[in-house]
Amino acid sequence: MSKVCSKCGESKPIEAFGKNRTTTDGLAKWCKTCKKEKDKQYYIKNREKIKEYKKEKDKQNYIKNIEKIKEYRMKNKEKLLERKRKWYKANKEKVKAFFKEWLKNNPDKHRHNVALRRAAKMQRTPCWLTKNDKALIQRKYTLAQKKTESTGEMWVVDHILPLRGELVSGFHVPSNLRVIKHTINARKSNKFVPV
Ligand SMILES: [Zn+2]
Repeated sequence: MSKVCSKCGESKPIEAFGKNRTTTDGLAKWCKTCKKEKDKQYYIKNREKIKEYKKEKDKQNYIKNIEKIKEYRMKNKEKLLERKRKWYKANKEKVKAFFKEWLKNNPDKHRHNVALRRAAKMQRTPCWLTKNDKALIQRKYTLAQKKTESTGEMWVVDHILPLRGELVSGFHVPSNLRVIKHTINARKSNKFVPV
């Protein structure tokens, strides 16, 4: 028994065709090879859309199962950590190379991340910081980077009231941040200097 594929026109044994309930012979019109090729082309063409779709689905699943996921992570903390360590060890060079490239393209984002971690450690990031606030802060880091590149001098984002000041401590919030030349910041250290 054989059948002609309506795509490539070749006569192939019926095993070369997938099932299809809507056709009279119950077999797909295209052979498996043609079908596979079509799927591949579809995937290539819609890669970004498919990725977005999967990401959104993962997010929805995560929200739906957050309690279960948390419980699983708690129970398997050591195992997961070990797996992470193993993965990192095996991919160390790749991770390093990836970060190096990312750093080259996103020095401002990196500075912002470092500042965020530092502020979090000092517990100077208020819980009411909105997404918009964070975007505003990121903009300051981007501005500092642009000024550094255009002037050839080091510009940094400075906390007007230092996060850990001698007398008063400021917060990691947009209104407490300004873009200044590094020399001023270095001299200032953790003293509050009105400029
Ligand atoms: Zn075919």
